[in-house]
Amino acid sequence: MESVKIKAYAKINLHLDVVSKYENGYHEVRTVMQSVSLCDEVEVALNGTGKNSLWCDIPTVPTDEKNSAWRAADMFFERCGLKLGADIRINKRIPVAAGMAGGSTDGAAVFKALNILCKEPLTEDELLELGGKLGADVPFCISGGTKYGDGTGAQLHGFPEMPHCHLVIACGTEGVSTPWAYSVLDGLYGNFADGEYTPSDIDRLKSALVSCDLKSTVDNMYNIFESAVEPHRPDVTRIKNALLESGALGAMMSGSGPSVFGIFENVDQARDAVSVLEAMKIQAFVAEPVKGI
Ligand code: ATP
Repeated sequence: MESVKIKAYAKINLHLDVVSKYENGYHEVRTVMQSVSLCDEVEVALNGTGKNSLWCDIPTVPTDEKNSAWRAADMFFERCGLKLGADIRINKRIPVAAGMAGGSTDGAAVFKALNILCKEPLTEDELLELGGKLGADVPFCISGGTKYGDGTGAQLHGFPEMPHCHLVIACGTEGVSTPWAYSVLDGLYGNFADGEYTPSDIDRLKSALVSCDLKSTVDNMYNIFESAVEPHRPDVTRIKNALLESGALGAMMSGSGPSVFGIFENVDQARDAVSVLEAMKIQAFVAEPVKGI
């Protein structure tokens, strides 16, 4: 049976801030997202049964319609008016519930794979639009690279590319639920009512990227979720300290956490940092930024 295999890349946020809260309870964000080479492998084949099947090598990941990859298949077939099913296999490498868009990127991979298998019924713009209905991070996971996102994060704009570097991505054992992290933020910043919070500047990060200045890029990273999550997840601080002591130019939490990334110029230092973290019983990976479409 013909199948398509897609590398579903994880994302980190170089910048993540909340601007306001919409009446429907969603938050308006400003973010700069970056795809990284840490990835799940997603293999998709068509079956003629009208029903999906899903296998994943990690037992805690749901294997039914609760899995975003399964839902992506249903949405794709419905949008294209196709009475087909998909057999989906996920080899999971991205830590789950870690703030690296693991579920979103698997969903994005299924959209891409099905569009190939069904001879491209959807344009890239239509895929991005459909992706936005599955989740705010999905359009970014479809297009990848370095992108600026606003609104719910699903509205994407080009942004200068991240310079080449080595990343160490690490994750403590206790996951973070994104709705919980937002509720802590709401408590800290008065529900983002007018005038309660001034969003941080993004222009210095943009200038640093334009001039390919890695040190200045690191100095101008920001994630509002650190203030909400770090006090509740001591591993975040332990990992950041270990990365900095191993020679990282900088280290920050990604998304709503608890994953943390460190940025290194030197690959040997990055590898040493992974050994240090593994000795602390922390899962860690060396990765690199990945370009988008
Ligand atoms: P985001 O950054 O998009 O908010 P995350 O990276 O923090 O997400 P995920 O790894 O997507 O978190 O996991 C969040 C929850 O989604 C998990 O508890 C899991 O049960 C569920 N889930 C659904 N589909 C998947 C999938 N394909 N991979 C991992 N988790 C999934």
